[in-house]
Amino acid sequence: MSLEIEHTCPECASVTTFYRTASTLVQLGEKTKWSCTDCDYGFVKIGEIESDAGISA
Ligand SMILES: [Zn+2]
Repeated sequence: MSLEIEHTCPECASVTTFYRTASTLVQLGEKTKWSCTDCDYGFVKIGEIESDAGISA
């Protein structure tokens, strides 16, 4: 898995580069945290499932 991805940021209202800030293995797969390089927005992915529940989750 790469350390950077292109992703739509709702804060920037455009596609920006996100970088991976953390990665842990959980029961459902690999849990990764991503942060926008242009603002403080972040989201969490578990396997291929995205969640904007919060970067602190
Ligand atoms: Zn952003």
